[in-house]
Amino acid sequence: GILLELRDLHVSYGKTAALHGVNLNVRVGEVVALIGANGAGKSTTLRTISGLLKPTRGEIRYQGRQITGMPADRVVRQGIAQSPEERHVWPAMTVYENLAMGGYLCKSNAEIDKRVGVVYHRFPRLKERHRQLAGTLSGGEQQMLAIGRALMSEPELLLLDEPSLGLSPRMAEEMFEFVREINAHGVTVVLVEQNVHNALSVAQRAYVYETGRVVAERDAAGLLQDP
Ligand code: ADP
Ligand code: ADP
Repeated sequence: GILLELRDLHVSYGKTAALHGVNLNVRVGEVVALIGANGAGKSTTLRTISGLLKPTRGEIRYQGRQITGMPADRVVRQGIAQSPEERHVWPAMTVYENLAMGGYLCKSNAEIDKRVGVVYHRFPRLKERHRQLAGTLSGGEQQMLAIGRALMSEPELLLLDEPSLGLSPRMAEEMFEFVREINAHGVTVVLVEQNVHNALSVAQRAYVYETGRVVAERDAAGLLQDP
């Protein structure tokens, strides 16, 4: 079934139009990549889905329900999480405290601890650094922590904006392996990725952006033959 549907989405920053009628679908259980040049509108699409920006026209349906214009805090409760952009973490808090903050919707501390345990299972590097201040982690580890915090809401749909940006090849591979693992556990993923090869290594399908529009939809095999 279809999990997420964008129809004729228009988004502007003030007077500057960033999206001019984007249409796309995400099916339950997929990893979908948004690819295309810098400034094409990929991040804007994620921000609009997560409720950080309001579209000027068009609609967003999640599980068949309208979430168009819904504020970000309510979008999280629908089961959608976006990892904070630019690997934002609270540098003066420990790894554990950062994750616990992401569990603000939890009803009990026991529930928070349980979810932190799931994140540690996914990111053993974070577990090893449990009590360390987030500001002392490497860039890649901070990126993992930011994503781990998004996972604390146990999303069905995870939005990732260039999760491998600035990572060493080895950390980037760990990041993509993480995406495969959470997807194998049933989490649907929309991934912004500039590098087509990286996108292909995890996504089953991709939408190609050009200047605020989707100009093509491709499956991974098609992209491999004719990138
Ligand atoms: P991508 O993620 O594909 O690189 P973006 O969604 O970041 O593209 O940007 C789409 C367009 O919106 C670009 O023209 C960009 O300059 C503009 N834009 C992005 N963020 C802002 C912002 N905060 N304020 C004004 N314009 C922005
Ligand atoms: P792996 O695939 O790394 O071997 P497991 O399948 O052994 O991981 O999962 C270990 C535990 O973590 C299981 O109880 C599993 O249900 C739980 N788990 C793993 N990922 C998630 C997730 N994204 N959401 C909730 N629970 C998860």
